[in-house]
Amino acid sequence: MAKLTDIKGIGEKRASLFAKIGVTDTESLLRYFPRGYEDRTKTVPLAEAPIGENICIRARAFSHVKETRIRKNMTIYSMIINDDSDAMSVIWYNNRFVKDSFKEGKEYIFYGKIVLNRGKREIVNPVYESVEKQKFTGRIVPVYPLCEGLTQAAVRSAVESVIGERERLTEYIPREIRSRYNLCELNFALSNIHFPENADSYNIARRRFVFEELFTLRLALMLKKGNNQVRKRTPYQLREYGEFVEKLPFQLTGAQNRVISEIVADVTSDTAMSRLVQGDVGSGKTAVAAAAIYLTVKNGYQAVMMAPTEILAKQHYESFLEMFEPFGINVVLLTSSSKGKKDTLSKIESGEARVIIGTHAVLQKNVVFNNLALAVTDEQHRFGVTQRGMLIDKGENVNVLVMTATPIPRTLALILYGDLNISALDELPPGRKPVKTYAVGENMRERIYAFLENNVKSGMQAYVVCPLVAETEKSDLENAENLSVKLSKAYPEFKTGLVHGKMKASEKNEIMSSFVSGETNILVSTTVIEVGVNVPNSNIMIIENAERFGLSQLHQLRGRVGRGGEQAYCIMVAHGKSDVTKMRMKTMCESNDGFYIAEQDLKLRGPGDFFGTRQHGLPELKIANLFEDSDILVMAQNAANELLAKDSELKLDENLALKKRALAIVAENTVMN
Ligand code: ADP
Ligand code: MG
Repeated sequence: MAKLTDIKGIGEKRASLFAKIGVTDTESLLRYFPRGYEDRTKTVPLAEAPIGENICIRARAFSHVKETRIRKNMTIYSMIINDDSDAMSVIWYNNRFVKDSFKEGKEYIFYGKIVLNRGKREIVNPVYESVEKQKFTGRIVPVYPLCEGLTQAAVRSAVESVIGERERLTEYIPREIRSRYNLCELNFALSNIHFPENADSYNIARRRFVFEELFTLRLALMLKKGNNQVRKRTPYQLREYGEFVEKLPFQLTGAQNRVISEIVADVTSDTAMSRLVQGDVGSGKTAVAAAAIYLTVKNGYQAVMMAPTEILAKQHYESFLEMFEPFGINVVLLTSSSKGKKDTLSKIESGEARVIIGTHAVLQKNVVFNNLALAVTDEQHRFGVTQRGMLIDKGENVNVLVMTATPIPRTLALILYGDLNISALDELPPGRKPVKTYAVGENMRERIYAFLENNVKSGMQAYVVCPLVAETEKSDLENAENLSVKLSKAYPEFKTGLVHGKMKASEKNEIMSSFVSGETNILVSTTVIEVGVNVPNSNIMIIENAERFGLSQLHQLRGRVGRGGEQAYCIMVAHGKSDVTKMRMKTMCESNDGFYIAEQDLKLRGPGDFFGTRQHGLPELKIANLFEDSDILVMAQNAANELLAKDSELKLDENLALKKRALAIVAENTVMN
């Protein structure tokens, strides 16, 4: 690839600006896609120019440019323009460059917005070109994301000159796939994503790049994980688990029964299970995992379950002890701080321990299993792609069960877990009352805390969540340290705890345990309590500065309450009245359905920010929108599967360029390594 400085007009200095936006050579320049476009294909006569819209006008400079200094730092430049239909003023603020840019009587193209000023129409701060030198008017013009010092014009000219030279990038989507999925050729797509001829050619170009992005990402994930081969294993011989379910303290829901039977079908087949259980908070995923674990042990194997936090691992351990005790099944806990680790490790290795619950500590090299057949990951979204892979490698073609409460839209699940079968736990246990949710302003604070006080007095527990740990100079957001002090002072009769991510793990555990046991009445925290913890006796959650949290995050937080029989409440104290904040609050108040909320989240974030792909350890998508492009996603998914079925390591000549590209994606994303 050519260096940027080989492009006319780009010296070292400008090249260093381009480097800031990640453009280091002509290829990365061509792959630097516009964030939008201005349609300058049609000019409008002045007399017909509508107010409030960006439009293109072709008109003569009727006067010279007049300079009026109205105060320090504010100079207005104005000029009269006319065409055959009308005349109008053009205004620029503080733009001294315009002063010498026009010759009276000559024609120019202006692009900008018409506003009404004291009843007169004027065009404000338009960009312009002379008709002779016209380059970017009369066409659809790209608008690029910039960094300070870099101008639209600079990026446009650079891209234009590279495209103009017809420098060809090598096509890497095999011809067969392009023709099957109706995708245009790379260089046509490049020209038209930057300077589309018209709306159709733009759509054709965009479609190709959306496909390409999702297709290569999917290939990258599959190649990286190396699990695109079929994983064969000996089927479980025994398939009965009824005696286990009978001893549970509740009746399974229909959804739980259905998902368990899906799991049984998997483990009794000759292919290792790869299944994702997606279920809203409180839908009872633990019992589903427990049944799978029971069946595994009954068949003579070991099972492991990994949770993202120590407190959650401990909680699972305790409930599993209870469930498995009656069957004489040995359960152990393994975390980085657990005691008697040596003993535990040897029990795991000898096979005496049948069920192993732990944190990522179970991934360590010194953890050797005797005959591991099932690996469960709880709250999967908290782990990277790699960690899941590491757990799988602890045994030979183990059955894989991953559970997530972050209800991700199906489209994202397909990318993330495309190699998994998906089960939906789409029913809550009976008797659950939806959490009553309110969005309130500052002025209600006193009433809210009075409400909290009454509840705690009657024996319930409460969470208070803040966006910050400690006070900072810059921010007036509520912080957890401060608030916990305030609350302990206000309610000396209650025990108030404080937990946040900056604490040592042991400290965190101690405080969480005290809340779980009911000793602590009010827990002030940051979002560290977002995942999994089950304290059925807590029924109030107050979220301070709720405007700082995304929708899915708010829903996860709310999921901490309403897990017992009592009516639960979530009160969001929101400042700021932006439309997005209002919509988020409204959605939360209207719905308790995690899937609906996830969809709304995606809509509200809109194109440009793609539903926390980062959070899931995936690269940010440049062009694909998981919400709007779900049909292309499915195609890309199928294409990737078909291709790998034929050429599992992309070794064939025609696939080498594609493989290189997919591996480059892996290399660019440390999370995938
Ligand atoms: P999550 O899906 O969020 O992991 P849990 O497995 O922690 O949910 O279950 C939440 C609560 O619901 C627990 O207290 C659990 O004992 C209870 N529970 C699970 N399944 C049922 C059921 N079928 N009937 C009643 N309660 C249930
Ligand atoms: Mg759970």
